[in-house]
Amino acid sequence: MAELEGLEFGKSDFVLLDEVTMEQFMENLKLRFEKGRIYTFIGEVVVSVNPYREMDIYGKETIDAYRGRELYENPPHLYAVSDAAYKAMKRRAKDTCIVISGESGAGKTEASKYIMQYIAAITNPTQRAEVESVKNVLLKSNCVLEAFGNAKTNRNDNSSRFGKYMDINFNFNGDPTGGHINNYLLEKSRVVHQQDGERNFHSFYQTTNNDRTSHKAVMSALNVIGFSEEEINSIYQILATILLLGNMQFECDGESVQIVGLEAVNHISELTATDPESVSKSLLYRTVATGGGEVIEKGHSEQDACFGRDAFAKALYERLFGWIVSRINTVIEVKDYNPMLHGKNTVIGVLDIYGFEIFDNNSFEQFCINYCNEKLQQLFIELILRQEQGEYQREGITWQHIDYFNNQIIVDLVEQPHKGIISILDEACLTVGNVTDTVCLDSMDTKLAQHPHYTSRKTDRKYGGEGDVTFMEGFLDKNKDMLFQDFKRLMYNSANPVLKEMWPDGHLSITEVTKRPLTAATLFKNSIVALVDKLACKEPYYVRCIKPNEMKSPVLFDDARCQHQVAYLGLMENVMVRRAGFAYRQPYSRFLQRYKMTCEYTWPQHLMASDREAVETIVTQHGFQDDVAYGHTKLFVRTPRSLFTLEQERAAL
Ligand code: ATP
Ligand code: MG
Repeated sequence: MAELEGLEFGKSDFVLLDEVTMEQFMENLKLRFEKGRIYTFIGEVVVSVNPYREMDIYGKETIDAYRGRELYENPPHLYAVSDAAYKAMKRRAKDTCIVISGESGAGKTEASKYIMQYIAAITNPTQRAEVESVKNVLLKSNCVLEAFGNAKTNRNDNSSRFGKYMDINFNFNGDPTGGHINNYLLEKSRVVHQQDGERNFHSFYQTTNNDRTSHKAVMSALNVIGFSEEEINSIYQILATILLLGNMQFECDGESVQIVGLEAVNHISELTATDPESVSKSLLYRTVATGGGEVIEKGHSEQDACFGRDAFAKALYERLFGWIVSRINTVIEVKDYNPMLHGKNTVIGVLDIYGFEIFDNNSFEQFCINYCNEKLQQLFIELILRQEQGEYQREGITWQHIDYFNNQIIVDLVEQPHKGIISILDEACLTVGNVTDTVCLDSMDTKLAQHPHYTSRKTDRKYGGEGDVTFMEGFLDKNKDMLFQDFKRLMYNSANPVLKEMWPDGHLSITEVTKRPLTAATLFKNSIVALVDKLACKEPYYVRCIKPNEMKSPVLFDDARCQHQVAYLGLMENVMVRRAGFAYRQPYSRFLQRYKMTCEYTWPQHLMASDREAVETIVTQHGFQDDVAYGHTKLFVRTPRSLFTLEQERAAL
């Protein structure tokens, strides 16, 4: 609760609304946005509205104002949560995490960078060289990951097309000693196809003239992180290979399929340090094991060749990205840490992951992303409730049960073994024979018809002339995510050790390859389950980002769009949970410090046995004793009105 701001900027904490209605919530959010107050609390949660303009609120002075202060001592800010997470980590040796959510363009990545910059700014006051170097690599990693993992989309010029969770490790001094990055589901289909108005990943343009300056920044970041010249060259050789594959055409002379123009093949073979015959062969044939155990080479149809080429291009990029992340991880990995010597190694995790996406045309990626958000939303509600409950128990205050929508039912619909959507998709992918997207959808409709939250997408969209095309189009291919083993072997046999390292599974012969590899949806589910487990054992802090309009305008507050986001982010529920019990709580000493002047028995000093008694005196004198509960160390106040009375009196003095 930031007392320092006047009411002309609206309420700095949504729990202070007179009534918790959507109307009041939106009114406050809008007023604050218009007044340039882009951050608002819900208790310890920060709600952020993308200002779409440069704000003078991230400088050194602001950092100094937040450093080491309590959450409610300053106006709401990312720095307030960052500091709270940092303090919990340092003072109480708690692992904490900051979960940033919101839809594309809402400001998650910018927020995550400000959070990291804040942490970098407040740590290592003695400027120890090894800590500075860790900080530098952590900060520079953003630049590299953005170059390779972000792209211009219709929603955001710098849209992250992957999910990122970064752990920052700290020593007992509270200085960063290293970190670890986990990346989630890179949208690799973008490598071969972009919607109208969108672009491929930034990295592809940075080698050409239009994005030269960012190219310099990326090169310098790669150098700072410690990528060798050979590694950097390999990265750009892979990008060039992908571009060549993008231009590659096939033709069928009636009998067999050929590559149009062999220069590309020679060029690719040079770039990838492989021989040209193997390159052509992997593009035109696939090795198959027959039922009798015989291994034969089967020529591609033109369609198969195109499919193979695209799958290869996507896989090259995906593996490159994964390799870059793991390469950064080896640099930032905490080395030589001895807990006996150095004390507990604590962690702050920062999660910047795609928010709900609902497009005109929703594909497999949106399915995965939205499932991930259901999981995180569930964790959010659970943790917020758990945190409240924990606090009440610690303070010896009776906890009252709160009803909320438990979206476990939706999570189950997606992930339940045998009957969930992922299982049905996997089953269709593993069935031998030609199971089409439509057949799979039929099966889903039959199996899930009774589920209260299932609606078939069959009639959802129609494309002119092509008949019915469903939500499921391309799902099965994306879920199977098939790449012919021939490409893997080609890369594994590369004379370039960097490339070879990215394709360790290329050594398998066709007879050794597992026939039932995990599907993309299952792999994604497993990674998200692991992520949720990781988050669940940390003390969470939340930043909920809202995109004010679709035009990237700094002045437009689109009520309907914002209200929609407030609703699906569950912010109203959050306020209600926070207010259902006690909206406001403060340690006795702090409460006293702020309000002692409103009561003759406590001003300038109290003579009572404890701060708690002094606080009881203030509360009773102002007549709101029925509105509070006394915890072991904190005062809990049920309705904000009581505090307003005190604030007003304080102001009038
Ligand atoms: P995506 O899910 O597509 O990755 P995102 O939530 O990460 O989206 P950002 O890339 O962080 O969105 O923000 C989009 C753009 O909005 C930024 O490039 C920047 O122009 C603007 N923006 C976001 N936050 C701020 C801020 N705090 N101050 C100024 N501009 C901002
Ligand atoms: Mg982003």
